[in-house]
Amino acid sequence: MLISRRLVSLGGLAALCPCLSAEGATPTAANGCAFSQAADSHDSNSQYPGLRRWGAEPPELALAPIVIEMSQLFELTPVFGFYDDTGSCKGNALASSEELFPPAPNAPFKTEGTVLLGEKLFSNLNRAQYQTAAIAAVCAHEFGHLLQFKYLKSELSRIRDLDGSVVRVELFADFICGYDAGVRQFRQGDYAGAIGALNQYRSGDLVFGESHHGTPEERGHSVTAGFATGSKGPLPPERIARLAFEYISTLIPQAVHGDGC
Ligand SMILES: [Zn+2]
Repeated sequence: MLISRRLVSLGGLAALCPCLSAEGATPTAANGCAFSQAADSHDSNSQYPGLRRWGAEPPELALAPIVIEMSQLFELTPVFGFYDDTGSCKGNALASSEELFPPAPNAPFKTEGTVLLGEKLFSNLNRAQYQTAAIAAVCAHEFGHLLQFKYLKSELSRIRDLDGSVVRVELFADFICGYDAGVRQFRQGDYAGAIGALNQYRSGDLVFGESHHGTPEERGHSVTAGFATGSKGPLPPERIARLAFEYISTLIPQAVHGDGC
């Protein structure tokens, strides 16, 4: 399947975000280790090798309740797919404001953006002790980026440009990750929401510069703040997006520049 859509930047905020950065990896759009700065020059097929829709068989079938729940919570209906992320260190995931797949015939809703999970990342998450919570944490982070694209792209573009870094943009998405875990605990009581925080904490990188996503402590604190909000119950999507924005607006990242040494 040839996909020739071009990814574009929206209001200065790149319209896709590969999210789990990896120490020591070369930051290219292809391996997903960096926030894309030149996404508008790439064909989707060449940029994301192995691009495909998610399947309806196990283990991918386990995504269905997660996607349905988050689509309702965030009032967003992205298309989900997979790509080959074996070029990255830990695996990766990303959100795009574009639909990278043709619309499904007779779909009862309009799709809004795309979430791609790397094959390697998904395989790793499936081996996690609390695999559902781990997968949900990654998906919720990506929904966080979709909320940015929908409600706050100009505001977050300014923050990114001010910082010269995507750190606070990423910590916003971590806040949403924690919020989703909090809502799940609010609804289910025994949900292992802490796994979401742990998962993001482990994803914290020490690469300072354009691709830095926050230190482990910053990511953990952002998830915890979102969790505290979500554990009181769900909020309208735009409201939680603005609360996440308020949270990152007051943050002073430990480091947004540097050479990573
Ligand atoms: Zn991200």
